[in-house]
Amino acid sequence: MDLDKLTIDSIQTGLRQGEFSSQELTKEYLSRAKSDDTNSFISINDQALAEAEQADKVLAEGNGTALTGIPLAVKDILLVKGLVATGGSKILENYVATYTATAVQKLKDAGMVIVGKTNCDEFAMGTSNENSAFGPVLNPHDKTRVPGGSSGGSAAAVAANLCPVSLGTDTGGSIRQPASFCGVVGVKPTYGRVSRYGSMAMASSLDQIGPMGKTVKDTAYLLQHMAGFDKYDATSSMQTVPDYVAALDRNPKKLRLGVPKEYFSDHLDKEIKEIIHGKIDELEKQGFEIKEVSLPYTDYALAAYYLIMPAEVSSNLARYDGILYGMRADKKLSLEQWYKQVRSHGFGAEAKRRIILGTFVLSAGYYDAYYKQAQRVRTLVKADFAKAFKEVDVLLTPATPSTAFALGEKTQDPLEMYLADVFTVAANIAGICGMTLPIGNDKKNLPVGLQLLAEPFAEEKLFSLGNFIEKL
Ligand code: GLN
Repeated sequence: MDLDKLTIDSIQTGLRQGEFSSQELTKEYLSRAKSDDTNSFISINDQALAEAEQADKVLAEGNGTALTGIPLAVKDILLVKGLVATGGSKILENYVATYTATAVQKLKDAGMVIVGKTNCDEFAMGTSNENSAFGPVLNPHDKTRVPGGSSGGSAAAVAANLCPVSLGTDTGGSIRQPASFCGVVGVKPTYGRVSRYGSMAMASSLDQIGPMGKTVKDTAYLLQHMAGFDKYDATSSMQTVPDYVAALDRNPKKLRLGVPKEYFSDHLDKEIKEIIHGKIDELEKQGFEIKEVSLPYTDYALAAYYLIMPAEVSSNLARYDGILYGMRADKKLSLEQWYKQVRSHGFGAEAKRRIILGTFVLSAGYYDAYYKQAQRVRTLVKADFAKAFKEVDVLLTPATPSTAFALGEKTQDPLEMYLADVFTVAANIAGICGMTLPIGNDKKNLPVGLQLLAEPFAEEKLFSLGNFIEKL
């Protein structure tokens, strides 16, 4: 079995034509995952083979969906009943989930087999996967480099063929950035497109769950089954879910493409700039209408993100009090000492930094100057995109200012680290949808990603154009 080449379509064919069973396939992925040297997984699902056996039964009866029997890796931020869910944090080291996230349940209902839970930055806070309590993930393309974050394990697991597809979460780029660093496809759906029920909350107004895979089509298959209204998430949208898989074959040439000039500033690595411009030229030759547009508030989006996000983090992380979930303190302590002990030992440095920052920007006297001001900027960033999407259908931008950086390179300087998110956070601030896909390698042979952005609920445009670019 050549796992490197397997996609959902080719696995389906293999399964239905009896070339291999889901059990055989799952066994193969599990043995790879067990000897993995990228640290992509935090835990392996010991029920995986039983789930694959069940899928084989369904297939033998001639039933099932496009996803029946297909292995899936799930970011450890998402709950799967009966499996440990750490969120990348020591505070939840032994926490066993009591229910399953809706997005995961939908994929399970479609017949997918969960191979394991992937490594990530603590509570999804990070850009390099170095904030995980379970050690960093190594980039499969160069093990001295980071895979990106926070869904680093989900991206690396796909790139290293430890699973064919995976799930991540994206609050400020955590699907699109690691996908880009690891040379895979990642989709951040529109805010509200996928239920957040069962996803450990980082910043509730920004978080979205999304798919990662080797091809655009693989991500479309996953989103097709994950999306939709959920009564357990009041922010999930009631809009009907279109046929994303059918959208792949739609002619994308009617789409007007925009290139926002603010995304090609001096922050951007020269080689990435060249590769992206090369792709834009190719698209122009193919007959696409391409236009330069302006998103003047781009520079302020990052600052607004790093105020709104920690504010929400400080509130969401309050639930880890050593009583409700996970780590406990010594019983003889007073309540206050109890909190202190659990939270000082349970949280890593970055989680603490964001709780402190968030508490500060929400405090009396600073609320208006920071939090409220950031919300005003958010409105302006949103308006920027709304205006651009009157002129064009899809924006083409870099996904990251550099390709994968070295392990340890930015850990001493949080601001340096935050700057790596400069091209991805605006989509979350504005609630729009985005995708990154690999379009080449730099001279160090590291993958370069292209980001496609579209207005809310226009994921079909991303799939249609993404599929075209991938084939080009
Ligand atoms: N890198 C960003 C941060 O650290 C994004 C995280 C995310 O999308 N979960 O906040």
